[in-house]
Amino acid sequence: MTRQKKFYAWGYADEELTADEIRSWEGEVARHYNLASFDVSPPPQADQIALRPSRVVVPAALQPLVRTDHFARLEHSYGKAWFDTCRMFMRSVPNPPDAVAFPETEQDIIRVLDWCAQSGAKVIPYGGGSSVVKGIEPTENFEKVVTISMRCLDKVLEVDPMSQAARIQGGVYGPHLEDQLRNTPFTMRHYMQAYRCSTLGGWIATRSGGHYATLHTHIDDFVESTRTVTPTGTLETRRLPGSGAGPSPDRMIIGSEGILGIITEAWVRLRKKPRFRAATSVRFKTFHAGADAVRGIAQAGLYPANCRLLEAREGLPDTPWQSEEAVLVLTFESADHLLDASMSRALEICRDCGGIADESALEDENSHRSGAAGAWRNRFIRAPYYTEHAVARGLLATTFETSMTWERFHDFHATIMQVSRDAIRQATGREGTVTCRFTHVYPDGPCLYFTLGGVLDKRVMLDQCTSILTTCMMATVDHGGTTTHHHAVGRFHKPFYDKQRPELFARALRAAKRELDPRGMMNPGVLIDP
Ligand SMILES: Cc1cc2nc3c(=O)[nH]c(=O)nc-3n(C[C@H](O)[C@H](O)[C@H](O)COP(=O)(O)OP(=O)(O)OC[C@H]3O[C@@H](n4cnc5c(N)ncnc54)[C@H](O)[C@@H]3O)c2cc1C
Repeated sequence: MTRQKKFYAWGYADEELTADEIRSWEGEVARHYNLASFDVSPPPQADQIALRPSRVVVPAALQPLVRTDHFARLEHSYGKAWFDTCRMFMRSVPNPPDAVAFPETEQDIIRVLDWCAQSGAKVIPYGGGSSVVKGIEPTENFEKVVTISMRCLDKVLEVDPMSQAARIQGGVYGPHLEDQLRNTPFTMRHYMQAYRCSTLGGWIATRSGGHYATLHTHIDDFVESTRTVTPTGTLETRRLPGSGAGPSPDRMIIGSEGILGIITEAWVRLRKKPRFRAATSVRFKTFHAGADAVRGIAQAGLYPANCRLLEAREGLPDTPWQSEEAVLVLTFESADHLLDASMSRALEICRDCGGIADESALEDENSHRSGAAGAWRNRFIRAPYYTEHAVARGLLATTFETSMTWERFHDFHATIMQVSRDAIRQATGREGTVTCRFTHVYPDGPCLYFTLGGVLDKRVMLDQCTSILTTCMMATVDHGGTTTHHHAVGRFHKPFYDKQRPELFARALRAAKRELDPRGMMNPGVLIDP
């Protein structure tokens, strides 16, 4: 039986933060914002949310695969961003899908697509539903809409040990994928934060960014070939370690966000499970001193698996808000060789920038689970579970990410920090919190990941959050950054992506879509105008 996810928030229905976790977080927030108490709204129950009746008639032959019941439609209505949970708390779901299909084979997908084409329904491909950009959300202008959940296509079909690759179905969730590799020497290790509740097909469709902070940052680096069912036919690319034969067809599919077809399978590169690990954390007086060290490491060709620079006040408990300190979580891992030389050289670079390493972590075999690195890891894994509690208390807790080349980094970082602080003050009438960290780093620049907090007015909190994020995203693109480094475009980022992307490219993409999806039925409104 499939484990039931929470329909209104991150995680599974049978898991919660502990009372201690909530109490300690409430204490921190109350102290920071000087709040005497919280007004806590109860989470929604599924039967408290009215949905309009389904507008499709499912043909008898498809009835075993297609659900039109209240819960299935509700569960597939929104992704998992703060604003999605907020709308669930408002009991407001005006545009649910009319039906949700659960195909078990590619042939089933083709049958469902044929039915949608004949009945004039739009189609939304659905992986784990962890989109934070309205990627799986129907809009009011769809006359009929069918969501196709890939949940049943969840197998590792083949492992090629010689080339270290596997053929895997698109609907597999991260943990189930790794479980199926358990009896092999291999792992995929695309541990992005939403790994537990997202799928290989979703990662490919959104160009997700995973665990590796350098070298294999995006899913692009894992994909050897793809197989996609489009309304026009099936597009399968050739498995190759590399190719210079024209523009890459995989590159067209990777990041296509469901507008061209449904990714049913991919061959992905695996690696041997790591046996050697060296991990520590390094403290810097300022974020910019840490950034200099990260640039040095990235440009030295050292390629740590983790190289996350955090403001200490965001990553470490008990750091005063006034602190300017930064902490670098640094990990090297390998299945093949000792990493002492890489770590020594990285620490030398850090020392040159004034960094002080946590020596005790270096001596501890489980250093990635202790000290600052461990504290960061715990926060990273638990953070998504706090969103619903923030919404329930009218607190802003959201993020956005971008990237910038090093030569513009200082000004860009200062500008976006300031714009974000101003946007929160403007929307809420009080000071909020803005922090920045690097999640991925390249020789030519970092991915900057901003976290925003503040106290909202529950009556208008959705508008307040939207206005803050819109201001921040617009500034990001206006100042030369990307609208997203790894959270995808969806419907939410599209206006900013429109500004960033060359118009001629948009025309080329529309032409490709017309060829693969002549009726324009696949996820309209995502990436490009319908
Ligand atoms: C708490 C949290 C943490 C996150 N952390 C990260 C992170 O660290 N890195 C990161 O990159 N993202 C992150 N995200 C965003 C999200 O998890 C990614 O975009 C993820 O790749 C989406 O995968 P999914 O299977 O959930 O796809 P869905 O949310 O179901 O769909 C996302 C998009 O892909 C399309 N799609 C899904 N499956 C297919 C398919 N088989 N074929 C064609 N199109 C398809 C959908 O139509 C939609 O446009 C996070 C989200 C949350 C809520």
